[in-house]
Amino acid sequence: MNEQKTFKMKLYTSKPEGVTIFLKDNVPPPRNLEPFVTGEGMYVYQCGKCNQVLLRNVRQAQVTKAIYKCPKCGSYNQIE
Ligand SMILES: [Zn+2]
Repeated sequence: MNEQKTFKMKLYTSKPEGVTIFLKDNVPPPRNLEPFVTGEGMYVYQCGKCNQVLLRNVRQAQVTKAIYKCPKCGSYNQIE
């Protein structure tokens, strides 16, 4: 049985430049608060500021260096 591991993502203090940013600015609520990715892996990633779940049950292979803009608090998060 896999044990779930929860990580807080690293926060950017300002909008990062020159990188891919995933965001949900055009997704209407409440769907905008759903995770960017939902899989069947054991890793859960939360916004480093407000704990909103951004990536749920992903596998390590699904994890990229991309930036995710939290749909709840607007913070820019990166997986370390
Ligand atoms: Zn947040």
